[in-house]
Amino acid sequence: MEKAGEKYVYDFSEGHKDLKQLLGGKGANLAEMTRMGLPVPAGFTVTTSACQAYLATGSNPPGLAAEIDEHLAALESAMGRRLGDASDPLLVSVRSGAAFSMPGMMETVLNVGLNDESVVGLAAQAGGNERFAWDSYRRLIQMFGKTVCDVPGDEFSNALDEAKAARGATDDLHLEAADLQALTDRYKRIFAKHTGHEFPQDPREQMRLAMEAVFRSWNAERAVLYRRQERIPADLGTAVNVVAMVFGNLGPDSGTGVAFTRDPASGAQGIYGDYLQNAQGEDVVAGIRNTIPLDDLRTLDRRSYDELLEIMATLEGHYRDLCDIEFTIERGKLWMLQTRVGKRTAGAAFRIAAQLVNEGMIDLDEALRRVSGAQLAQLMFPRFDLAEEPVALTKGIGASPGAAVGRAVFSAERAVELAAAGEQVILVRRETNPEDLAGMIAAQGILTARGGKTSHAAVVARGMGRTCVCGADQVEIAADRFTTGGRTINEGDVISVDGTTGCVYLGAVPVRPSEVVQYFEGEQTDSVLVDAVHKLMSHADTTRALAVRTNADTAADAARARRFGAEGIGLCRTEHMFLGDRRELVERLILAATPTERADALAALLPLQRADFVDLFRAMDGLPVTVRLIDPPLHEFLPSLEELAVNVAVARERGEDHAEDAQLLDAVRRMHEQNPMLGLRGVRLGLVIPGLFAMQVRAITEAAVQLAREGLDPHPEIMVPLVGAVQELETVRRECEQIVTEVVADSGVHVLIGTMIEVPRAALTAGQIAEAADFFSFGTNDLTQMGWGFSRDDVEGAFFWRYLELGIFGISPFESIDRDGVGRLIRIATEEGRAVRPGLKLGVCGEHGGDPESVHFFHEVGLDYVSCSPFRVPVARLEAGRAAITAGESDSR
Ligand code: PEP
Ligand code: MG
Repeated sequence: MEKAGEKYVYDFSEGHKDLKQLLGGKGANLAEMTRMGLPVPAGFTVTTSACQAYLATGSNPPGLAAEIDEHLAALESAMGRRLGDASDPLLVSVRSGAAFSMPGMMETVLNVGLNDESVVGLAAQAGGNERFAWDSYRRLIQMFGKTVCDVPGDEFSNALDEAKAARGATDDLHLEAADLQALTDRYKRIFAKHTGHEFPQDPREQMRLAMEAVFRSWNAERAVLYRRQERIPADLGTAVNVVAMVFGNLGPDSGTGVAFTRDPASGAQGIYGDYLQNAQGEDVVAGIRNTIPLDDLRTLDRRSYDELLEIMATLEGHYRDLCDIEFTIERGKLWMLQTRVGKRTAGAAFRIAAQLVNEGMIDLDEALRRVSGAQLAQLMFPRFDLAEEPVALTKGIGASPGAAVGRAVFSAERAVELAAAGEQVILVRRETNPEDLAGMIAAQGILTARGGKTSHAAVVARGMGRTCVCGADQVEIAADRFTTGGRTINEGDVISVDGTTGCVYLGAVPVRPSEVVQYFEGEQTDSVLVDAVHKLMSHADTTRALAVRTNADTAADAARARRFGAEGIGLCRTEHMFLGDRRELVERLILAATPTERADALAALLPLQRADFVDLFRAMDGLPVTVRLIDPPLHEFLPSLEELAVNVAVARERGEDHAEDAQLLDAVRRMHEQNPMLGLRGVRLGLVIPGLFAMQVRAITEAAVQLAREGLDPHPEIMVPLVGAVQELETVRRECEQIVTEVVADSGVHVLIGTMIEVPRAALTAGQIAEAADFFSFGTNDLTQMGWGFSRDDVEGAFFWRYLELGIFGISPFESIDRDGVGRLIRIATEEGRAVRPGLKLGVCGEHGGDPESVHFFHEVGLDYVSCSPFRVPVARLEAGRAAITAGESDSR
C-alpha cells in the first residue's frame, strides 16, 4: 500500500538491476543498461507498488499522475518531441514487467500517441512513409482495443484478413497506404461498436488508460493461472514501462530480433538469435513471417551486427551469466529493448555454470547457486532420442518428468485390463479424478487435456513417480480416441509422452538412458555435461554440512546408493524383509497359540533376518546402517478379511473342510483395526508380541559380530519406530541392551540404540526421550500424517488437488516439509533433544530427505544427515551443498 511521499515513478537513469521487486525485471534491466551507457530508448518505470495500490483501491494512488507528468516532460525533452504532437509526434510503448518473468501473460500497448492528426506527422517524420504511419495507427487501435477495452481480437484480425484478400495479398507487407488507411477506419468503427465511444484521440488519455489496463492484466485469468502454477505470489503486482518508440518497420534498413549470449538449450558457447527485417517485435513473437539467423545480419548491416556482438559480450561480462536480449534496428541505428538473465534447460544450466567458472567469471560457490536439485533430477530421467524426428502430436504441460511409451487407452478400466495382459499403456483423459487411480497406477504415463501442474493428474502422478503431461488443450477426447492437429489416435495406438517437456509424439520414440546416471553408476562417459555435473557435485560435497544417507532394505539398493554417494543407510525398513515366501512364517508367528509355537516361528525367522543384515552391512562396510525394528500393523501380513470370510462361507456351504481358514479368519478379525495407521504398529507391536523385537535385535547384532570377525567394520544402529513416550523406549531399550551386551561380547562391535521421532508427542517430549536415545531420526512421513491428521495413503489421491487449487498449500506437505507446522515440531525436538544430550545425532528419513526445499530446511535446523531413496541421493548431496552456501540468503531456493 502507498506510503506518504512514496516515489512511484523512476526514470531509466535512476534504477538498477537489483530493484526488480520495485521496477519489475524489465524495468530494472532497462535501467541497468541505461546506466551502462548502452543504447536504450529513453523511458521511465511506474513501480509495482503503484500497481498494488491501484489493484487494492481501483484507482491510481495520489501523487502518481503528477509524477508521471514530470517524467513525461523529461522524456519529451530528452527526445525533442512531444507525445502525440501533430507535426512531429513522440510515440511510446506501455509495457508490463513483473518481478518474475511471466512470458506473454500480461499486456503491452505500442504506438501510444497516435491519433487522426499525429498520424500525418508520423508519416512526414518517417520521410513521407504513409504506409508505415497508417500501419502503426491501425496497430495501436487493435492493441488498445483488445487490451484496454476488451474488444474481441478476432474482429480486428478478420478485418485484416479481408483487406488482404481484397488485395490478393498473402502478407500484410503487401497492403498499401490507402489500404491501411481504410483498415484504420474500419478498426475505429469496430472499436466504437464494441465500446460505445470513439477511439480516444487524446494521447495522454491513451497513455493513462493503457497503463491502467497493464495494471489490471496482473489479475487476468491466464496470469493468475500461471502464477499459481509457478508459485509466484499473487500480491506482487506488475510494473509499467513507458518507453519512447523506436521502429523496426521503417524499411529494409530496419528490423527487430532476439538473441542469446549462449545456447539456452544445450549451453554451448556462441551467440544464438533470430532477426526479422522490416518488422516490429510483436511480429517475431507472433511468428507471422520467417526469421533469419542472427548471423545473416552480418551481411545485411555489418555495423549494427558488430555493435550488437560487442553489447552482448558487455552484458555477459556485466551480468556474469547467459543473457537474452531483444533489440530493434531503426534505419541502421541499434536500440536495446530488453535484457535479462536468460532461462535455460537443466543441462544448459550445469554446462553454463561450469563454463563461467572455467572462464573465471564466477567462483564455484556462485556456480552452485545457479543450478538446482530439481534440474539435476531432470537430468537423471531417461529421455527420448529425437534424432529420427518423431511426429509431434501436441504439447501440454510437463507435470511429472520421465519418458513413457505405450498404447493409448481412454478409461482407467482399460488401462488396468491391458496392463494386466502385459501391455504398456498411456492413460488419456480429459482430466482425472480419484476414480482413475487404479488406471493411473497401471499406466506408464498419463496425458490429460485439462488442468495444470496442480491438477489431480499432476499431483497424483508426481506422488507415484508416473510420467504425466497435463493441460494439452489442443487435444479433443472422445470415448475411444483423441484428435489433435487433424490426426486421430485410436485406442491401442502407440504414443510417447515426455513428462519433462510436455511433448507428445506418435509411435514409440526410442528412449535414451541418462548419461548423468551412467556417470553416477561409475561408467566412463565422454560428455561436457557430465564434466560439468562432476565439477559442481564435487564442490557441493566439499561444502555441505549435512551428510547424505539412503533408505535401503536390500544389499543391491545399498550398493547402488553407495555408488551414488550415500554415506550410510538412514532407514532400513525391516518389514520389507518379511514379505514373499517369508509371509507364512510371520503368519505362524501371529497365529501362535502357545509360547512354544511363537518361539518356533521366531527361531525360524532369526537366521533369515541375520542373513539379510549380513548382506546389508557388507554392502555398507565402514558406514553406519540404521535398522528400524518392524513397524507396520501385523494384519498387513495376513490375508484380506473379506476374501477369507467369503472362502470360509463358501467352504462351509459346500461342506468342505475349513477349520484352518476359520482359525485364520478369527485371527484376522481379532487383529482388524478401524484405523490401522494409528493402531498396533511400531514400538507398540514390540511391546505386545513377546520376542519379536528381541529376535530382530539378535539378528542385527549377530550379523555385525560375524562381519567384525571377518575383519569388516560394521556400524549398526537400532532404531525403534513410533515412540510417543520415553517409557516405551526405555522398556524396549532395556530388552535390546541385554541382548546386545550378550552377543557383542569382546567382538569390538558398537551398537547404537535410538528412535524415530514421528509421533507429535515424541517431538514435544524430545527432552525426555533423548535420555534414552543415542540418536533421533525424524520420520517426517508419519510426523506429517499425524501432525496434520491426514491419512497419508488416502489424501493425495482423494482431495489434495482441491487444496492445491484453493491455495491452502502450494505443494503437498508429504512432498515438501511444512516448515511452519511439522517443521516447528522438528525444531522443538532438535533443540530440546540436544539440550539434554549435546552430541545427539539427528537425521531425517521420511520422503522429505530427498526433497530440495526440505533439505535447505534440515540444514537450517542443524540436522546431521538426511536419508532418501538411492535415486535421490545425488539431488540431496547437491542441495545440501547449495544449502550451506545460501543459508541466510533470502532468495536461496
Ligand atoms: C516416516 O514415517 O517418515 C518413515 C520414514 O517411516 P515410514 O514411512 O516407514 O512410516
Ligand atoms: Mg513412519
